[in-house]
Amino acid sequence: MGAHSVWVLEYARSPVHPVSGVYYGAHNQGTMNLPFAYMLIRTADAVALVDVGHDANDFGGEIANSIGVTGWTPPDVVLAECGVRPEDVTYIFLTHAHFDHIGGLKFFPNAKIFIQKKELASWMWILAKGRRFRSLQAGLNPADILYLTQANIEGRLELVEGRRENVLPGIHLYPAHDTHTAGSQYVVVENDDGDDKLVLSGDVIYTYQNLTGGSPADPYFVPPGLANGSQTKLIEAAEEMLGIVGNDERRIIPVHEEQLAQIYPSRLTDRGLQIVEVCLAVGTQSKI
Ligand SMILES: [Zn+2]
Repeated sequence: MGAHSVWVLEYARSPVHPVSGVYYGAHNQGTMNLPFAYMLIRTADAVALVDVGHDANDFGGEIANSIGVTGWTPPDVVLAECGVRPEDVTYIFLTHAHFDHIGGLKFFPNAKIFIQKKELASWMWILAKGRRFRSLQAGLNPADILYLTQANIEGRLELVEGRRENVLPGIHLYPAHDTHTAGSQYVVVENDDGDDKLVLSGDVIYTYQNLTGGSPADPYFVPPGLANGSQTKLIEAAEEMLGIVGNDERRIIPVHEEQLAQIYPSRLTDRGLQIVEVCLAVGTQSKI
């Protein structure tokens, strides 16, 4: 219990996601169900999202269709389960610019957007390199980069350079550069004087198996299969996250982790989407 409430809100899923995309080196191991989700943080004074999902009606939807994503639900429907309207959201912390994390920005016209400066610069560089570099564009909707430019003109974009402590009281942005993407970042949520920190990992960690190798008794790091950066940097970032949470893996929250619904209080909506309640601020009513 503390000052912040955190929910993980599923908005779509990829029931046939290649296992090799989630675990580096997991060749010929078929497919797995991968939830697509974003996170809602309520503080005393602010409504914030960590990532925003995608828009099924633009090119992000085409990318989603190409990898078998189903069940897309718009943010107004998803957030209503927690009594929030898209226009109530005033802060958006983007872990990275893959379509399923950034493509829903247009639904949140009142939000200030925080992304690492290096993330934006690297996508501009990749796009400028042209078609021969298109393998590095996997998961990118270029229109999302254009949207960041528009938000910048409107005074709603903040480019973060490295670590930003207390972007909101008790909420910190930590860089994980050259990992899943060039300018990935993750969010640390601090309740109760810092002894129960949460790490919202973005895609630096897809599932707990990235932390354990599926061998909890004798764990080892298996980095995500999809990475524009380095496997070593991914493992170093995972080690850093474990240090922040005192090696309590369950305080790392990966949005693509199906098991979150078993670890934390959860419920299914009418549309079959999971709502996971990671923590609840003092005096806040449960949404489960
Ligand atoms: Zn990603």
